[in-house]
Amino acid sequence: MVGINSKVDESGTIRLLQDLIRINSVNPSLVPGAHGENEIAEYIAGFMEELGLEPELEEVQPGRSNVVAVMSGSGGGPTLMLNGHTDTVGADYMEIDPFDPVIKDGLMYGRGAIDMKGGLAAILASVKSVVDSGLELKGDLVVAAVCDEEYASIGTERVVDRYRADAAIVGEPTDLHIEVAHKGFAWIDIETRGVAAHGSAWQLGVDAIAKMGKVQVGLERLQDEVLMKKQHALVGPPSVHSSIIEGGRELSTYPDSCKLQVERRLIPGEKRGDVEDELRELLSSISDIDPKFDASSEITFFRGPMEVSPDEEVCQVLSRCIEAVRGRTPSFIGGSGWLDTQIIWERGTPAVAFGPSGVGAHAAVEWVDVASVIENAKILELLIQRFCG
Ligand SMILES: [Zn+2]
Repeated sequence: MVGINSKVDESGTIRLLQDLIRINSVNPSLVPGAHGENEIAEYIAGFMEELGLEPELEEVQPGRSNVVAVMSGSGGGPTLMLNGHTDTVGADYMEIDPFDPVIKDGLMYGRGAIDMKGGLAAILASVKSVVDSGLELKGDLVVAAVCDEEYASIGTERVVDRYRADAAIVGEPTDLHIEVAHKGFAWIDIETRGVAAHGSAWQLGVDAIAKMGKVQVGLERLQDEVLMKKQHALVGPPSVHSSIIEGGRELSTYPDSCKLQVERRLIPGEKRGDVEDELRELLSSISDIDPKFDASSEITFFRGPMEVSPDEEVCQVLSRCIEAVRGRTPSFIGGSGWLDTQIIWERGTPAVAFGPSGVGAHAAVEWVDVASVIENAKILELLIQRFCG
């Protein structure tokens, strides 16, 4: 510890994290019939009430609650939002007991330990330490524990409709570095249409599956010759791949339709319109030379990429807080996965991801490094004081 006087309650933070892991909060949109986020939201509301805050529980969908508390400052300072999701992915396939937060060699195991109950515990612990210190802040602090990040982010979508902030931290795991950029993605349906005919009627039949083969060759060329040349310094190149293909009816018939589902990952700077143009060009380059090629494409789901400048006030202050607590300068990093930071960023609020160290998000074994959760809390404690103070 490099000269900071932290009020973070270390053993209390560890107990808090264990409580969060014990509460099943598997996302029911991912796993039908799963527990949902109401129970964990109620637990967090209770924690906030004990701090003297007035949390608001909001059921965004049945069984799916957000809990948000605003710590009002005395005025004249910027508003900071700390955001963490309460839901987890499924736990049926885990090789450990997902809801028994065992600590071994400084690592706490369980579903959600790193994604992201560790970061959520650090957020709540930092708020408690600021309350315990009795320090009066100028700016407001918005603490949002949100549902459904692992599926459609209905929780953060609701929060940005109702609360504004000048900067936001999303407590996803970053190894205590600052994630200022991440990729977006588009899910795309492509359909090729052929002409059904008896398998012997080569003069009449048009094979929709063969036509889709041309699309796949085109997608591979797009990846190798176009996308690989577009590099982003923090997140690398964009990419495209086939995910699911189906077509054909029976062995003796020319297939009249083939459907391909494709995923395209976008780097900061790329837009939905760029992907639409790319698809249109790909399909028309095939139909230009093949008059029997008939195809269409549609983006069925889209989440944009995001990027915040490291020069933003929140990045600079956070960087200095990390240095003060850890005695070393953090890196500004990029991530490949999409996060709720993008939803907040899209509303004009600089948002970065910052959280603890661990492995096994969405995997059979998941753990968080307990010491990194404590450091995370101390860094956020200092950030709240310096950014809102
Ligand atoms: Zn997460």
